[in-house]
Amino acid sequence: LTDEADLARIEAARAPHAATLFDARPRLAGPLAGGQRDEIRNPATGAPVGNVIPAAAPDVETALASARVWDAAPAERAEVLRRASDLYEAEFGPIFALLAREAGKSQADAVSELREAVDFLRYYADGAGTLSAPPRGVFTCISPWNFPLAIFTGQIAAALAAGNAVIAKPAEQTPLIATFAVDLMHRAGVPATALQLLPGDGPTVGAALTRDPRVNGVCFTGSTETALMIRRAMAEHLDPSAPLIAETGGLNAMIVDSTALPEQAVRDILASAFQSAGQRCSALRCLYLQEDIAGHVLPMLYGAMDELALGDPWALSTDVGPVIDAEAQAGIRAYVEAARAEGRVLKELAAPAAGTFIAPTVIRVAGIDRMEREIFGPVLHVATFKANEIDAVVDAVNATGYGLTFGLHTRIDDRVQQIVDRIRVGNTYVNRNQIGAVVGSQPFGGEGLSGTGPKAGGPEYLSRFTAHPATHSAPDGSR
Ligand code: NAD
Repeated sequence: LTDEADLARIEAARAPHAATLFDARPRLAGPLAGGQRDEIRNPATGAPVGNVIPAAAPDVETALASARVWDAAPAERAEVLRRASDLYEAEFGPIFALLAREAGKSQADAVSELREAVDFLRYYADGAGTLSAPPRGVFTCISPWNFPLAIFTGQIAAALAAGNAVIAKPAEQTPLIATFAVDLMHRAGVPATALQLLPGDGPTVGAALTRDPRVNGVCFTGSTETALMIRRAMAEHLDPSAPLIAETGGLNAMIVDSTALPEQAVRDILASAFQSAGQRCSALRCLYLQEDIAGHVLPMLYGAMDELALGDPWALSTDVGPVIDAEAQAGIRAYVEAARAEGRVLKELAAPAAGTFIAPTVIRVAGIDRMEREIFGPVLHVATFKANEIDAVVDAVNATGYGLTFGLHTRIDDRVQQIVDRIRVGNTYVNRNQIGAVVGSQPFGGEGLSGTGPKAGGPEYLSRFTAHPATHSAPDGSR
């Protein structure tokens, strides 16, 4: 969202979709059985957004039986994926409407999410021609709700660019935008047998797609717990050469030392912790603040938080929308209440009464070695450290076992190198906000419990989708 003209364009393109009821259902290269119809509601308002017919067990069988690798020449696959990227751009009105109404995305977030999805399509299209190895066969792509367009599209685009047949299982919460996106890819020319969509539950539809021997590889983004379940299922049922490409959770830290520029640090803390209502895998979860500047930085942070606009993401002025659903809201609320009972809530905004909102909140951590579990919402933990404790902080961050993103604010050059050398994460951000991926220039992926690699949007990613000899990888670093 850069200027008034952009805002007006978005407004005009979204307006016809303000109350449209969208439809989600399996996209199969065969007859549909279909499960029980369900309704999708707007997390900010409770208003209906559309209906989903999830996949039933026979639909999983139909998809597996009719999946065919995409045997077009690489140049043709690339052309089709580029055409899909153009269609995504042309359809930005309904896409922004869906991102706001189904996924609760602020429109600034929606703009960057569409950009990322388009970049993935073009980046992997460019990569298609560079691959020498053949496809693996049938790829299951399982995606989360928090980037229901970008991650969903990136996984599919990579698998298709390499010529695989894809069966995509979107998150339960966001089947409408997934169906919309698959329809665009089909319109662009992806064959129906090369890309099928199975909306439905993780433990039934998703699990079935990770334990059928006709599946030759799984691409997964979501929680570490689910990735570990999938790995077990694959080990039992799939050919041992079938790769698991997993991007999972994080317990992301930022260190701000006493030489940091406070204004810059506060701006980056705010964006990293609260953008997308904290529902980014890359989001800052635990801020380690050097004791002697805490008294300066924290009041500035609280002041900046007071300026955040919470509300319905349909409003172009909204900074922080709702969390995805009532279940997520209840879980985060319980966590905040427990911290409050211990007197650890330092700052909390007021949330709108209706809708599944969690107000941005800051919680004091009991000690520097007490990083908590991943809370997938706008909850920032803060710990302070003394000048001689910085190594202990790095140890504490490494000890979590996660390794997704890490931020550092300092003006001591030697310190940057020392810490970067020791910290075990996939993506480090020095003196800037620790916000996710930039396709092509900032490939994204985690270490340890945060993922298997290779990084998405980077040069090695595509080859994992081909039949190059490669070892089975695991979301615990044991690849
Ligand atoms: P989730 O693990 O609950 O669900 C992700 C997907 O897995 C959904 O489609 C779900 O239906 C499916 N699933 C659930 N159980 C399954 C099973 N037994 N077998 C097969 N599939 C199953 O995660 P979520 O709540 O949707 O997403 C939030 C999580 O995703 C957070 O932990 C976040 O950090 C992580 N995430 C990581 C990245 C990254 O790039 N590292 C990006 C986005 C989100």
